[in-house]
Amino acid sequence: MNETAAAAIQTECLIVGAGPVGLFAVFELGLLGMKCEIVDSLAHPGGQCTELYPDKPIYDIPALPVCGAQELIDRLLEQIKPFHAGFHLGQEVSAVARQASGRFTVETAAGTRFDAGSVIIAGGLGSFQPRRLLVPDAERFEGTQLHYRVQRAEEFHDRDVLVAGGGDSALDWVLEFCGKARSVSLVHRRAEFRAQPASVARMKALAAEGRIRFHEGTIQSLASSDGRLSGATILRTDKSTVEVGCELVLACFGLHPKLGPIANWGLALEKKALKVDTERFQTSEPGIFAIGDINTYPGKKKLILSGFHEAALAAFGVQHYVYPAKRQFLQYTTTSPVMRERLGVAPPQ
Ligand SMILES: Cc1cc2nc3c(=O)[nH]c(=O)nc-3n(C[C@H](O)[C@H](O)[C@H](O)COP(=O)(O)OP(=O)(O)OC[C@H]3O[C@@H](n4cnc5c(N)ncnc54)[C@H](O)[C@@H]3O)c2cc1C
Repeated sequence: MNETAAAAIQTECLIVGAGPVGLFAVFELGLLGMKCEIVDSLAHPGGQCTELYPDKPIYDIPALPVCGAQELIDRLLEQIKPFHAGFHLGQEVSAVARQASGRFTVETAAGTRFDAGSVIIAGGLGSFQPRRLLVPDAERFEGTQLHYRVQRAEEFHDRDVLVAGGGDSALDWVLEFCGKARSVSLVHRRAEFRAQPASVARMKALAAEGRIRFHEGTIQSLASSDGRLSGATILRTDKSTVEVGCELVLACFGLHPKLGPIANWGLALEKKALKVDTERFQTSEPGIFAIGDINTYPGKKKLILSGFHEAALAAFGVQHYVYPAKRQFLQYTTTSPVMRERLGVAPPQ
């Protein structure tokens, strides 16, 4: 093993994506006695369930007549507790490379490195990326004066801040910055908001008191002075424009999934999905498996139920790849003492 691999986090399996299917893979690997690390570009586990429809009910999870999407994720997190997976959230897996030994070096954009015996890609529709502000020169200020997420709220204190967007994030930050920032302006393309009614009511009350300013319209352009962002021109819905002085812009336009780096790992793709076999859900690269919405095979259906089945078979595939000499046999959690021990429950009577 080379020096860089020695410095990396060792694991039998690295899972890319902490959506429902990636989380269930932790469970299936755990039942087979394997420990894993799991990485997601989002700051929280749950994938589409948490990001896109947390409050919606799901009706097609076996034995759960109805289950909220976030509730499903909470239940999965509870179910995988005995297996102590290492979570690495808010990090996008940027590179996967095979080592001469057949193990894999996996890197995240944040610089975390893994030396993994196998890889399961459960990347769903791709990693969620912020929708960007599409005006000339915006990229010049990204990361310095134009932000898509708040890393340190204090950086916005005592500054002239322009928040863009009409969802919960935009409203929450407007309310948070009010009284702490030097000035707070909100711009949203229409008068209706997709945020908690209480937050909308509070924002409107603050605007009526003159403590924040609300502009119905869109950012048309950014202004700069000596290379620093100094303001924005807002095109109002009535077609008039208004100049807003600001040092920081926080654009909360939501997130959209992007296949991103997964497309560059040399794996066979079909219509932006990873081709797999249906015995082990292995990709074109031995030792790299793909489960859930990210994969494709004849008859594929993008359902959580299908992803759970794929996770179970991929776990056996991982075990065979990492421990080829190990004899595989099916055990039931009901009756297997070793599985009960792994689950931390009492042995069968
Ligand atoms: C509104 C809506 C309703 C739905 N209702 C149902 C339903 O009733 N029943 C049903 O079965 N299905 C339903 N679905 C579909 C279901 O949500 C998906 O099938 C399921 O989420 C797929 O799970 P997954 O774990 O494969 O992927 P996702 O849930 O998409 O999770 C993938 C995760 O991988 C991460 N990721 C991707 N690339 C990287 C990378 N390079 N580095 C780090 N992280 C990465 C992403 O950030 C994401 O968190 C619904 C979907 C939507 C949008």
